Amino acid sequence: MKLAVLPGDGIGPEIVAQAVKVLNVLRADGLKIEMEEAPIGGAGYDSAGDPLPQATFKLAQDADAVLLGAVGDWKYDDLPRDMRPERGLLRIRKDLNLFANLRPALLYPELASASTLKPEVVSGLDLMIVRELTGDIYFGQPRGISRLKNGEREGINTMRYSESEIRRIGRIAFDIAMKRNKKVCSVDKANVLETTELWRQVMIEIARDYPEVELGHMYVDNAAMQLVRAPRQFDVMVTGNIFGDILSDEAAMLTGSIGMLPSASLDEHNKGMYEPSHGSAPDIAGKDMANPLATILSVAMMFRYTFNDPASADRIDNAVRKVIAQGYRTGDIWTQGSEKVSCSGMGDAVVAAM
Ligand code: NAD
Repeated sequence: MKLAVLPGDGIGPEIVAQAVKVLNVLRADGLKIEMEEAPIGGAGYDSAGDPLPQATFKLAQDADAVLLGAVGDWKYDDLPRDMRPERGLLRIRKDLNLFANLRPALLYPELASASTLKPEVVSGLDLMIVRELTGDIYFGQPRGISRLKNGEREGINTMRYSESEIRRIGRIAFDIAMKRNKKVCSVDKANVLETTELWRQVMIEIARDYPEVELGHMYVDNAAMQLVRAPRQFDVMVTGNIFGDILSDEAAMLTGSIGMLPSASLDEHNKGMYEPSHGSAPDIAGKDMANPLATILSVAMMFRYTFNDPASADRIDNAVRKVIAQGYRTGDIWTQGSEKVSCSGMGDAVVAAM
């Protein structure tokens, strides 16, 4: 297993170091894992004048999977847009053709009080959002701001999906549902938008190949409401880029802390980039305070989706469950009565639990 490790900026190096400890446990137990590190984001700009240095991209391209920390820092805010850290991230996603973004929202029972929703609404939440990541209105042409004949300005973006783009993300959602509770909810706005009318038709066609999976449809406005009304009704939710962008952040908040949420972005061959859902948190960088669990859980996803090794994935997931049950908490999830640990302390606790 060849892994490109891209720590990035801010808390990136601290949280990735904890994930590497976890990988080293698996390596010591016999898994053949090769790791090589390279700079991205601000670190890429500082070392090579580019937020995605050519050598970093080559390493990621040749690897089976990429583990990323986070990018960004306020000190790069004045750079031209193309040189900003976030640009490196967008480019690597696009250039590796990582079209499927998987964002689980899982609520640990011990953290139910950290959610803004009532515990009885969110406890037991275990939802997977599958978001298309390289198409839709974010990339469709024509786009831009132009001037009309009467002199006023007009902004244009184009919502576009080809059948094959819908089919490949749909298949990923159905394959994931087969490994979970066999329910897919496809989110669209088929009553108003033709693009998503096609989306719905293609989802219905795909469902014929998965007779065991129950397919439902929901308009995006209703889905946004249902996520806060009764989020446990969902197993796998599949949707396009813009709807997924919004709904995945909404779902993330249900679980209380962004420091707990992993993510995966996959290409057609299940090669993936794995990263926490949060950013580089410059406000706490270098203080050994960050929560490394989202990054560690991203490694579990890597074993589940790229390396097809559910045993290693379960081993990491169970270790995280155990440290939470044991009462270890970083500052972001700390409550009275639990034991506050540092970022590296949390990494050590997970290693011990493994
Ligand atoms: P952020 O996610 O970095 O931080 C938001 C808040 O959550 C901060 O208070 C931070 O301290 C806290 N936080 C985040 N992760 C945490 C963790 N693991 N443990 C404990 N607390 C945590 O978002 P932001 O402040 O809006 O952005 C900071 C920088 O990160 C910006 O440069 C932004 O562009 C970048 N960013 C990067 C990514 C990415 O790399 N995928 C995503 C979002 C933002």
